[in-house]
Amino acid sequence: MKLPGVLKRKLLMAWFRNRNKLQRLHGEAYCSYIGNEQGEFLEQPPRLMGPRCDSKRCRQVRSCHLVSEEDRQRIFTSFWSSMDWDQRKIYVVGLADMVDVERKRSESNRRQHSVKYHLRKGETKCQVCKNMFSSTLCLGEWTVQNWLKTAEDGMISAKDRSMP
Ligand SMILES: [Zn+2]
Repeated sequence: MKLPGVLKRKLLMAWFRNRNKLQRLHGEAYCSYIGNEQGEFLEQPPRLMGPRCDSKRCRQVRSCHLVSEEDRQRIFTSFWSSMDWDQRKIYVVGLADMVDVERKRSESNRRQHSVKYHLRKGETKCQVCKNMFSSTLCLGEWTVQNWLKTAEDGMISAKDRSMP
């Protein structure tokens, strides 16, 4: 049987909408629409959890290996299915500590930061590397940096305001 073009398109659209809804419900891959700086709305690629960190160096200096795949899946799912964007920002800022790094003498007086990332395993916070952090939460490095910067600026301006 040959379906008329219009009907076929309608069926396809309904199928696509339904599939998106189901995926969102299960916290799986999902399509969201986020406006960019120009106010255009772009369709985001599906969000999928990235690969875990496997680095030997991290085994010695960080706790990437202590966070299991189940832990990661749990974090990823609750992050994308039960939080809104404000909650996500608070969550990320709460797990990343901005640390002042001692400046080398040759450098200018620009403040140097390094960030310590953590993932939660029950009540414990495990220190992980940047790769593990952003691949588990499926967030780009730029997004994380930007949220941290905004949070820090917010704290600084709050401090300034309280000064007489
Ligand atoms: Zn690592």
